[in-house]
Amino acid sequence: CGIVGYTGPKQAYPIILKGLKRLEYRGYDSSGVALLHNNKLNVYKKKGKVAELEESLVGANLNANIGIGHTRWATHGEPNDRNAHPHSSASGRLAMIHNGIIENYAQLKAELVKKGYQFTSDTDTEVLLNFIEDIQKNNGDGTLEEAVRIALKRVTGAYCILLIDEQDPETIIAARKGSPLVIGIGKGEHFLASDASPIIEYTKEVVYVNDYELAIVRPNELILKNLGNEKITPYITKLDME
Ligand code: GLU
Repeated sequence: CGIVGYTGPKQAYPIILKGLKRLEYRGYDSSGVALLHNNKLNVYKKKGKVAELEESLVGANLNANIGIGHTRWATHGEPNDRNAHPHSSASGRLAMIHNGIIENYAQLKAELVKKGYQFTSDTDTEVLLNFIEDIQKNNGDGTLEEAVRIALKRVTGAYCILLIDEQDPETIIAARKGSPLVIGIGKGEHFLASDASPIIEYTKEVVYVNDYELAIVRPNELILKNLGNEKITPYITKLDME
């Protein structure tokens, strides 16, 4: 339901946590964060309020300059810790959050089960994530960006997704169709969210990502492409602070 991401020089966790609280008004049943530090992903998630996630993380290793966070409104699989986002891929290399519904997830899941994939949640999201991971391993050029592009051509439904990859530790890959995504442009940093409310205190310059667009987001770089791998010039909007 709510999405927040950060990549830059600051600590990602406090920014993501605050952002998730700003998105609470949208309604949700669970929340979680994935933080990437020293090429290692730490994923923390919990049923209930963002404040409960926060309490459960006292003493946890939260050090990271890149991360993604989510508040979930369950559509596939009951609200519990296991079904909360972020999800980790089968190999553990990728983490993903997702707003929306993957309509053809059952078919994709059946294909993956035939290939030996096992699932730890009941969500459509984990299916899309392992579908992306399988493509990254076996098709294309091995980049997450290309795997996402290939995967989304087979997906029906609505989504806004953010992914991070242990082997590409400064990059967030994002894509949307039918579910909103805003990217805030800071100085040597970028913020991602499902609306501008988590971003506005850091920067006034934002890009509203359109349907069927993919964003490659690094501290000093924002690349927008369509699913045909053609670059699109980002259209920068100035937020009104009033
Ligand atoms: N369909 C996904 C799930 O049930 C995402 C729900 C959402 O938009 O929060 O986990």
